[in-house]
Amino acid sequence: MGSKKKKKTVTEVKEKIEKGEAVVLSADELCDRVRSGEEVKFEEVDVVTSATCGVKSGTFAVLSFKVAERREAFERAERVFLNGVPAFPGPCPNERLGIVDLIVYGTARRDEKYGGGHLFRALVAGEEVEVVVETVEGGKVETRTSLEEIPFARLCSTRNVYKNYFAFVNSQEGEVASIFSVRKFAGPLKELTFSGCGELNPLEKDPLLETVGVGTRILMNGAEGFVVGEGTRSTAEKPNLMGFAEMHGMLPEYLGGFRTSAGPEVWSSWAVPIPVLNERILESVKRLDEEIKLGVLDVHDRLPVGAGEGAGAGEEVTYADVWQRDCDLSVRFDRRRCLECEDCRVAGVCPTDAFDPQTKRVSEELCCNCGTCVRSCEGGAFYGNLGTVSVLGRAVPVTLRQSDRKRAVKLAEVLKQKILEGNFTISEPVSRISKAV
Ligand code: SF4
Ligand code: SF4
Repeated sequence: MGSKKKKKTVTEVKEKIEKGEAVVLSADELCDRVRSGEEVKFEEVDVVTSATCGVKSGTFAVLSFKVAERREAFERAERVFLNGVPAFPGPCPNERLGIVDLIVYGTARRDEKYGGGHLFRALVAGEEVEVVVETVEGGKVETRTSLEEIPFARLCSTRNVYKNYFAFVNSQEGEVASIFSVRKFAGPLKELTFSGCGELNPLEKDPLLETVGVGTRILMNGAEGFVVGEGTRSTAEKPNLMGFAEMHGMLPEYLGGFRTSAGPEVWSSWAVPIPVLNERILESVKRLDEEIKLGVLDVHDRLPVGAGEGAGAGEEVTYADVWQRDCDLSVRFDRRRCLECEDCRVAGVCPTDAFDPQTKRVSEELCCNCGTCVRSCEGGAFYGNLGTVSVLGRAVPVTLRQSDRKRAVKLAEVLKQKILEGNFTISEPVSRISKAV
C-alpha cells in the first residue's frame, strides 16, 4: 500500500486557528529552521506568513472628496494637483456637487524629487495636502485636505509581489539614468542593483498559486486588502498579482516615495498568508534564498548579461548572494564617524530623504535599508555589508537594494501575530488565477 498523501483544507486550518491549536510561522522563521538542518514536517506547520517590500511602479490611488461647497461648484475639473502632483480627474464626474473623483499614479511627479509615492505616504501619515483644481470654466479652486476628510481613498497595485525580480548592471562604458539606480548607473560592470525579497516572497512560497487567488485577504501597507487577480505582464514563470486596500488603515512606515536617477518612484509592502494544505506547498514554503535564482540583466536592453556570448558566460546568481553570506539586512549609521563634510553626499542621494544632515539623524520610518549611503558616505559613517555578485567573472559590488528585506521580515511577523490573535482571518480564494497554474 502506498503512503497516504497528507492534506488539509483552509476550513480545517481556520478551525485550528480559532481553537488556538494552529502553528503559524513567518517565512523567515521557517527558513531559518530549514537552513539550520531541522526537518519541518507537514504536521508541524499550518500557515506560513510571507511578505515583500520594495519599489513597485504600478501603484495608483483612487480618491473621491469634496473640494468646494455646492453653491461654489463648477462644471468640470480640467486639471487637479495634490501637493503639485498631477492627478487624473474622472472617471465619474461629480463636480456639480463640489466633489472630485481622481486617479493618482504613484509614478506621477511634481518634480524630480517628489511624486505620487511621497503624496500617498503624506496622506497615510495624516498630513494635510494642498489641492489645486483648474476648471474648464477657467477658474481655480485652491484648498487643503487630509486623509480624514477623504471618505474614499483606495490604493491599488497593478503589479505586485512578482515572484522575485532581477538584478541590473550597466555593461557599457559611462553612466546612464535608470529607475534601477539612485545615482546614474555606472558601467561597465561597476555596480549592481537588485529587487526582490528572496525566500520571504509570497509567490516563491506558493509558486503555483494554489492558495493565493482572486479574493485572498492580504495586508497591504499594514491595512487589510484583497487580491484582485493576476497583475500586468504576469506569466506562469514570473507571476505577479494585482490587489487593493483602503488607505485609511495603512501605516506610513510601509509605503512612500523613492527617488531614482530617472525620477521619483513608489515603494509599498504586502504580506500574504500561505496555508500549508499539502506536501507540495510545504516544499515550496521551505525554499531558501540559495535555491532562488536572481537573473542579472543589462539595464540598457533588460536582457540577461552574457546572453549570446557562449556557454558559461554568466554565473548562476541566487538571492543568497545578496541576502545571505554575511550580508546585513540593516544599514547602520555611526555618528562618531561622521566627518561633518561641507556638502554631505548622503543627503543628496538618500532616495527616501531618511537622513537629515543637520541633525545627523536617520528616520527609521523612512529608511528602507537600500544601502545607497554606504557607498556614498565620505567618512564611512554609514555601514553594512551589501554583498558582491560575480558577473562575467568580475566581482561586482551591490550598491542599491530596491527591496527592504528587513521590513518584509517585520511584516511577516506582524501578519503572523494578527492571525494568532484572531485579528486577521485567512481566506480561501473565490477563484484561482489560471495563468500561473
Ligand atoms: S558624507 Fe558621511 S561623513 Fe560626510 S557629512 Fe555626510 S554622513 Fe557625515
Ligand atoms: S539606507 Fe541610507 S540611503 Fe537608503 S534610505 Fe536608509 S539612510 Fe537613506
